Amino acid sequence: MEKEYAEATELLYKGRKVKGMDFNKPEAFPLFTTTAFTMNSLTEVKKAYAEKYTYIRTCNPNRDALADMVTFLEAGEKSLIFSSGMGAITTTIMTILKPGDHVVCNRNIYGETFDVFTKLMPKFGISADLVDFDDIENCKKAIKAETKLIYSEVFANPTLNIADIPTLADIAHKNGALLMIDNTFSTPIAIKPIKFGADIVINSLTKFMNGHSDAIAGSITSTTEIIDAIHPVRMLCGTPGDPHAAHAMMKSFATMDLRLKKQMSNAAKLAAALEENKYVSKVNHPSLKSFSQHELALKLFTSNDTMSGMMSFIVPEDFEKIDKFMLRLNFAHYAMTLGGVRTTLVHPVTSSHSHMPDEARRAMGITPGLFRLSVGIEDVDDLIEDFNQALKVFGE
Ligand SMILES: *Cc1c(COP(=O)(O)O)cnc(C)c1O
Repeated sequence: MEKEYAEATELLYKGRKVKGMDFNKPEAFPLFTTTAFTMNSLTEVKKAYAEKYTYIRTCNPNRDALADMVTFLEAGEKSLIFSSGMGAITTTIMTILKPGDHVVCNRNIYGETFDVFTKLMPKFGISADLVDFDDIENCKKAIKAETKLIYSEVFANPTLNIADIPTLADIAHKNGALLMIDNTFSTPIAIKPIKFGADIVINSLTKFMNGHSDAIAGSITSTTEIIDAIHPVRMLCGTPGDPHAAHAMMKSFATMDLRLKKQMSNAAKLAAALEENKYVSKVNHPSLKSFSQHELALKLFTSNDTMSGMMSFIVPEDFEKIDKFMLRLNFAHYAMTLGGVRTTLVHPVTSSHSHMPDEARRAMGITPGLFRLSVGIEDVDDLIEDFNQALKVFGE
């Protein structure tokens, strides 16, 4: 017995099989919590270095397996997993740009990405012009000889304005630049930007793709050439991400298609219902006929029910009533994130856009009555009924 145990542990520590168990055949992908893989001879050391798995920051099977899933979903050649969406963005930009390079970026982007281009990158001699991509001429006019990158999100936060990806790809490629698209609000279930000409796609997996509001990670998908160039920079920046998050997300990925389709169709139905409510003056969702870019939405997405789980709507500017409205909601609750299975809302004027002057905000359609909503997987009739009963406070 003792001898058998000794044999088994010895085999285990040699990284081989335990008697009676085949570690290559588990039904669920195991979590590799190990920081390193062992090698028993210099021949094995050389082999490990030439192949892949040596140290956790370099390569980890959980990150790699998740990356393969993202590559499939985004229809790219190769992907990398990062510690966060921001880790993915900064590491990629530090790889593909150098001092003297110029970026043309959509002005309506995620606050931290805005800060990367306006505060962080100038320190390294990389300049950026942030312009409004709603009028594509603004993008064309901002291009310079040094422009190496055009950057946009599919949907602007919180108005859901859409970036015309095929046109942006055209502009980028005619000027020898790359197009990088943030697909976080839309996800590859709704749109695969690479199919419309994007060169690099970033996803914050923290949001819809994980969907359970319990882990943080990001991904970059691109050509093998670009990904292979980012990989060593990711090692230097220390942004590869923890295997636990990758393992947790792999489980969530199994239900991504189910969740997203429900969230997107719930959002379209709720948007249509809120548009009928007399206390709501405006609803922003690409599925609505009233949405200024509805035609473009129909070109880029396959149906009204597969555009986005995000939406926004405007109620009267009465803060006392707004508080009462929020307290009356049974399903939607305030949370500074998005994409989870439960419906969440935020108030941009007191959070993401609080630093902006009121006039500038209003020019962007962001008024004190605007709420941004991330729609969950609840029964859509329950959601509609709940919003309608809570909105009645504005008539009391
Ligand atoms: C959240 C978010 C990010 C950043 O992702 P993290 O995982 O929080 O670092 C980037 N872009 C968009 C559109 C986001 O919503």
